[in-house]
Amino acid sequence: AIEITGLRKSFGSLEVLRGIDLRVESGEVVCVIGPSGSGKSTLLRCVNLLEEPTAGTVRVAGAEVTDPEVDIDAVRRRIGMVFQSFNLFPHLTALGNVMIAQRKVLKRGKEEAEKVARQNLARVGLDDKMDAYPAQLSGGQQQRVAIARALAMGPQVMLFDEPTSALDPELVGDVLGVMRGLAREGMTMMVVTHEMSFAREVADRVVFMDGGVVVEQGPPAQVIENPGHERTRTFLSRVL
Ligand code: ATP
Ligand code: MG
Repeated sequence: AIEITGLRKSFGSLEVLRGIDLRVESGEVVCVIGPSGSGKSTLLRCVNLLEEPTAGTVRVAGAEVTDPEVDIDAVRRRIGMVFQSFNLFPHLTALGNVMIAQRKVLKRGKEEAEKVARQNLARVGLDDKMDAYPAQLSGGQQQRVAIARALAMGPQVMLFDEPTSALDPELVGDVLGVMRGLAREGMTMMVVTHEMSFAREVADRVVFMDGGVVVEQGPPAQVIENPGHERTRTFLSRVL
């Protein structure tokens, strides 16, 4: 589970997160929606300490990641993150990209790392692209390599920040399909997305953020089909 309590984050005098309380249960898929600048990426980045929270606590799988004594590398190993940009190494094949962090961070041997890489590339439907370089892959395939790379680390939770928003429309479906599969396997997931049909279909819960606070949350049928707040209605009328 991910447990976020009283989370605040300021950049200088700009308060971007203004007290977020949010729980994601083990095996739950929570989609975070909201206007640009509402703090969605900052929220995800605080969960894996890419940003240091100004106040509040974050616990992942029982361990407090905001504990000042915490081993940040150990925290990051527990948390897989996938961004809008894939950030693959251009000089490494798909297989090499999925092996490298296993080798460097987890100190896995070459054989073990390769075995795990092959398993996870197969899991994202890239059995036939293991030896391709990023430049030889479509955006959707590159993003699936990035997902395999995160999965190969054996994370307890996965964070996705608009994983499909850099993709051509015809490639979005494959990536969402992989995420749907992960959800079905019981992965704990926090997904920032503009894909309302994905949120409606896959999310157990939808969280609407605006101005650094959670304005409302609930099952997708409630938040997307029948929002209780004017701000949610205004946002949805723009994106649906
Ligand atoms: P989008 O939908 O456009 O991705 P978002 O909800 O993810 O938006 P954030 O990226 O979390 O929004 O940004 C929230 C606010 O924090 C914005 O006003 C942004 O300019 C500001 N911000 C984010 N990162 C930093 C930073 N490192 N330094 C200063 N301000 C920042
Ligand atoms: Mg963002």
